[in-house]
Amino acid sequence: MSKQVKFPEEGLSSEKILAKMKADRSDDLRWQDGKAFCLIYHPGDEKAKLVKDAYNLFFTENALNPTSFPSLRKYEAEVVSMMIDLLGGNESHTGSMTSGGTESILLAVKTARDFSRKTQAYITSPEIILPTTIHPAFVKACHYFDVKPVWINVSEDYRAIPTEIENNITKNTIMIVASAPSYPHGVIDPIEAIGKIADKHKLLFHVDACIGGMMLPFVKRLGHDIPNYNFEVQGVTSMSADIHKYGYAAKGASVILYNSRALRKHQFSVYTQWQGGVYGSPGISGSKPGGAIAAAWAALNGIGINGYLEMAYRTMATTEFLKSEVSKIKELNIMGTPDMSIFAFDSTEINMYELADELNMKGWHFERLQDPPAIHLTISQVHDKVADDFIKDLKESVEKVKAFKLRKVKDNIQLEVIKRLVRILPDGLLAKIQKQFSGTSSATGDRTAAMYGMMGVISGDDLDEIVLDLLDKLNSLDK
Ligand SMILES: *Cc1c(COP(=O)(O)O)cnc(C)c1O
Repeated sequence: MSKQVKFPEEGLSSEKILAKMKADRSDDLRWQDGKAFCLIYHPGDEKAKLVKDAYNLFFTENALNPTSFPSLRKYEAEVVSMMIDLLGGNESHTGSMTSGGTESILLAVKTARDFSRKTQAYITSPEIILPTTIHPAFVKACHYFDVKPVWINVSEDYRAIPTEIENNITKNTIMIVASAPSYPHGVIDPIEAIGKIADKHKLLFHVDACIGGMMLPFVKRLGHDIPNYNFEVQGVTSMSADIHKYGYAAKGASVILYNSRALRKHQFSVYTQWQGGVYGSPGISGSKPGGAIAAAWAALNGIGINGYLEMAYRTMATTEFLKSEVSKIKELNIMGTPDMSIFAFDSTEINMYELADELNMKGWHFERLQDPPAIHLTISQVHDKVADDFIKDLKESVEKVKAFKLRKVKDNIQLEVIKRLVRILPDGLLAKIQKQFSGTSSATGDRTAAMYGMMGVISGDDLDEIVLDLLDKLNSLDK
């Protein structure tokens, strides 16, 4: 058991607290130098200051009750409207701001479920169709709202297969979901073909543009070949798009959009019998940070189409450069044909988690994919300055990894999970696994690839249990 932290008797001085907090950040991801290809979207110091100032201006305000803060109500309505405009909608479209992509997705699924309860009351166990590349937030939504996920395979280029979708429609299907683009490989599912199927079977169709919603419109305007993915496509009934990713706003800003107000009504919650008064709220949260809404509004208005175009231009130029350099390295292979500024690369010759470790040790940060193991880059407007350095370090690291004599390991799961996993595994199991991998050169220090390999010997349900334990530990005082 971890030691409890005592609730402080007296408050410390602001100087002391802030000095301590600054020191606490020393181990945090250092994104400021542009070496992080994940988690962070920085619009440059000037625009970042605007977003922060806007956030601070509304730091105290609560958007729970829109009549108390007409300013925030207006910002929220305008952000939604601007996003509808950006994503090919019209006057009949509507939506809500949410705290992030996950909330937008939770609401899309909840809305679909409640819509079907109203219009297709015979459905008692609703299903939604999900390509295997879809974001896990949909799995979370299914779990929360008791909807059954029906998985469909993707093609060799990682796109959802329309015929697979059609073949998996049952009398219980309430919605089809696809990505524009998917997070793992950055490819856009065939939205037009899927839209036709949704239309034909009179099903709801959600396009998850969480990561693409504030990038694809600009990439398309720049002349890149982007297939239709938005409300212009017949059959699309809802979309999610994050403003806190390529919108470069403060975290806590996304939109869920619908093709009609009648559909959106199923998203809302009301309770009119409460002694505290009639209560209604559009989304999952009650109290809502005014700052995140204000910051999103300030970002859209302060950056504008031209600002986003300029950032998208540099981002795509960097992406093209990185893709072309990666594809020149004969051991590496770009997965699928990425449509935007996200791509992943794998290898049949070298161990990708070894390569990832090498790059981490040179200060680079990114996500690791599994099945098959791969390195995943989310490129944004800060990366033009570091692209050359990355390629240099990548080439060096590939050579280094080739020199390792490593057995081919079956790999799984995310880096942090593994690092910490070692601390929570039952001693016996750990010893057993370590023994099995003790022959590898890299089971020490910061190198985690061998530990990834360990995951191969832990299967299915055991792995779920281990990750649950891990989450429990991560959300506690334990080290
Ligand atoms: C980021 C992302 C989400 C989830 O958004 P959060 O803001 O992290 O909750 C959903 N779908 C895709 C494709 C994403 O990239």
